[in-house]
Amino acid sequence: MDNKDLAKKLFPNVKLTIEDIEKKYPPRDLAAGVPVTRVAPSPTGFMHIGGIFAALISERFSHQQNGIFYLRVEDTDKKREVEGAVELIIEAFKRYGLKINEGEIEIEKEIGAYGPYRQSHRAEIYQTVVKYLFEQGLAYPCFCSPEQLEQIGQQQAEEKVRPGYYGQWAKCRENSNGKIAELIDQGAPFTIRFKSNGNFLNKITVNDLIKGKKILPENDLDIILLKSDGLPTYHFAHVVDDHFMRTTHVLRGDEWFSSLPLHLQIFAALNFQAPLFGHISPIQKIENNSRRKLSKRKDPEANVDYYQQDGYPEKAIIEYLLNLANSDFEDWRVENPEADNRQFVLRLEKINQSGALFDLVKLQDISKNMIAKMSAREATQAILLWVKKYDPSFAKIISSDKEYLERIFNIERGGDHQRKDIAKWSDVKNEFGCFYDEIFDNSSELLKQSLAGIDLILAQDFIKAFLEKYNH
Ligand code: GLU
Repeated sequence: MDNKDLAKKLFPNVKLTIEDIEKKYPPRDLAAGVPVTRVAPSPTGFMHIGGIFAALISERFSHQQNGIFYLRVEDTDKKREVEGAVELIIEAFKRYGLKINEGEIEIEKEIGAYGPYRQSHRAEIYQTVVKYLFEQGLAYPCFCSPEQLEQIGQQQAEEKVRPGYYGQWAKCRENSNGKIAELIDQGAPFTIRFKSNGNFLNKITVNDLIKGKKILPENDLDIILLKSDGLPTYHFAHVVDDHFMRTTHVLRGDEWFSSLPLHLQIFAALNFQAPLFGHISPIQKIENNSRRKLSKRKDPEANVDYYQQDGYPEKAIIEYLLNLANSDFEDWRVENPEADNRQFVLRLEKINQSGALFDLVKLQDISKNMIAKMSAREATQAILLWVKKYDPSFAKIISSDKEYLERIFNIERGGDHQRKDIAKWSDVKNEFGCFYDEIFDNSSELLKQSLAGIDLILAQDFIKAFLEKYNH
């Protein structure tokens, strides 16, 4: 049985050819050099601040050159998927003002000609491409069970050799077409693996847009392209999607940097021109005098919800992240105090290669300045929106008289010496609580405590004298 016939047996449902797909998604009609970037989150229900950081970099990089920025939902890992997570992603990008030109702009409502933009809806595309690779002798079915793979891993650990499916360990690589056909007839489950032609001892040079020139070992792993459920792994989906969605610049998390040789190998096997890559180091924090990356498990501030709950204006977060991305943003802001931050030109080569350091005090500083610059009306509107969701009992108190609230916000607003005591909307209760009888605690118990040790008559005389002399 030749490869073509066996391919039909392996992929009985694939009706398209790779040429059909090329035709369906032609190169974009954009001038040379105009970037197409993307954000590709997985719907796990958790929006990491680093995800917004990477998305912001991609969005600004593309839009400052009149390019396209699109959203692709990477939902091929069905075990990790959380209900409602796609809504959360769409909502977060909207909230932070990241403008999406293509993709799901509302739940199950897509725009753009390069979709579907959810990977789970693209199974036919991946299967068509994997079938093509098989026909070319560049991919093969693997019938190893999870137990067999575990056994291989154990043996490699015992022999102290590099783990993975490669060389002599790639048991299914040399299966004959006859054997493959037989196993398929028996109904054996299989994955499809890449047939790597690489040699781990060779080195390749890559030019990363952020990290610069780097040397990495060539890939020799026969990684899984298509899982037994017919959905792709990240590595394969990345290559297929970024090619057919015509991405020009892949700006993504650093954790993918070591897989770059593999990705470049798959691009080459398919004769696809690889996009340019930039790998963004994770945001870090200092703990016990050493740096570590912001952790989803340990650090509440890793979750974007944290900033929402505390009531930081989204624009302050964006300005803070721009500041983390390019440290000269701060000088630019001083020189252009009123300008829209979209006018700042972000430079990939200026992004900190070893990871930006998260600094909550700095964020609060930026946020204080931003809130101080808002008009009393804007601030009133913003706090009312925030309390409605996050502090309903306070909302009841302050919503009844908006004019009064606005007057409070107007104290020392405008002019050169604005008050800068509010960094986030959750600070308002503390700072302005004294203007509300329901909050201001003037109970005699408290009075007694604060006047402890002071003669009551003396205090009364003092207050009387003060009131007589006081000139508002
Ligand atoms: N889904 C991948 C992630 O969340 C996307 C990486 C990429 O941008 O290519 O890490």
